[in-house]
Amino acid sequence: MGTNGMSDTEQAFARRKSVPVTVGPVVIGGDAPVVVQSMTDTDTADVAATVAQVAALARAGSELVRITVDREDAAKAVPRIRERLDRQGVDVPLVGDFHYIGDRLLTKYPDCAEALAKYRINPGNVGVGEKRDQRFSTMIEVALRTGRPVRIGVNWGSLDQDLVTRMMNENAALAEPRDAAEVTREALVVSALSSAERAEDLGLGRDRIVLSCKVSGVQDLIAVYRHLAARTDHALHLGLTEAGMGSKGIVASAAALSVLLQQGIGDTIRISLTPEPGGDRTREVIVAQEILQTMGLRSFTPLVAACPGCGRTTSTVFRDLAERIQAHVRARMPVWREEYVGVETMSLAVMGCIVNGPGESKHADIGISLPGTGEEPAAPVFIDGKKAMTLRGATIAEEFHRIVDEYVETHYERRQAGQPEAAQAGPAEHAVPPAAAQ
Ligand code: SF4
Repeated sequence: MGTNGMSDTEQAFARRKSVPVTVGPVVIGGDAPVVVQSMTDTDTADVAATVAQVAALARAGSELVRITVDREDAAKAVPRIRERLDRQGVDVPLVGDFHYIGDRLLTKYPDCAEALAKYRINPGNVGVGEKRDQRFSTMIEVALRTGRPVRIGVNWGSLDQDLVTRMMNENAALAEPRDAAEVTREALVVSALSSAERAEDLGLGRDRIVLSCKVSGVQDLIAVYRHLAARTDHALHLGLTEAGMGSKGIVASAAALSVLLQQGIGDTIRISLTPEPGGDRTREVIVAQEILQTMGLRSFTPLVAACPGCGRTTSTVFRDLAERIQAHVRARMPVWREEYVGVETMSLAVMGCIVNGPGESKHADIGISLPGTGEEPAAPVFIDGKKAMTLRGATIAEEFHRIVDEYVETHYERRQAGQPEAAQAGPAEHAVPPAAAQ
């Protein structure tokens, strides 16, 4: 037991109190689980391509999908995108990302404003001086009329330059000026908070405002969000902007977000990965889910624990099996999630030899220990901690898949009609019918 009468786990995950914001069927903040969101990289005016990518992201588990609305053709396409998604049974809420002319697009295309569940406004990209105030007000007025929430999303790369200049000048006049990076971080926070205050003065409730302050450096992001979280109870959207490609993007995002999430900061996350050429956009959704799941904050899909391999097993059989079973489980999850209560919490282990294999396998719901070099060519399978059978021969992978399928069918309660999916996921979890993603 730690201080305040709370266990270490309760303290570790004590969530910062934020005002819940409803975005279609999804709740961001309050007691709702941390929401996973993503963004398309298609030209929004290309309806077919955008619908396909939104459906893929939703099927991967994205609970909100943001699309760029950068010009008239894009704004005209939004209601058609929504309509097609609805026809396919994909109910994921769409968020419109607006820069520069969002006021014009939202007022000229009311169907676009209605088709979107939330508007993202970047206060650094709505013009300067009076024009900025007017454009910002117009977008807030649209949100008031349509009943939609907004995200006031400040970005390091497009920070309000008037504000930065003023704060830098004030800092320079101090007897002991702070360093420029610190002033810039403070400018991000001030930009978000003052824009939120302005939106509230215009009549938008706190339950309709989400804030974000994105930067690309891990330590900067942690510092900015700590300041922001300490100064407001608005729901917060977390994400490292321009996280980068491959392992760098994943590691930087995980490093920054896990520190903040561990401190209870963050109500929705987006992982801004740059896909490898020909890469899959849904990777960012899987990474976001894996960050939340490995931290024990939410469960999305059974994850396979596998040993790293070493000189005791020169065969790659266990690696192939670990990869195949993880792919099998991911492929089955859209159906399992709809049919079985709690299946996302199932744990699997695939181990390379007898040293840690049986022990680790026993800790999982289902574990298999493959033979290491020189060991008998047999693979004991453990179910709920007890040795259940031994697999041999060339069909070990197929048999293991069958054992996992049977385990799901016999160990998880069948979902009743109308019973919500994944209680841990709360109101943010919603189904994408398998057909939608075909
Ligand atoms: S389980 Fe065996 S093969 Fe895997 S890392 Fe441990 S000793 Fe090496």
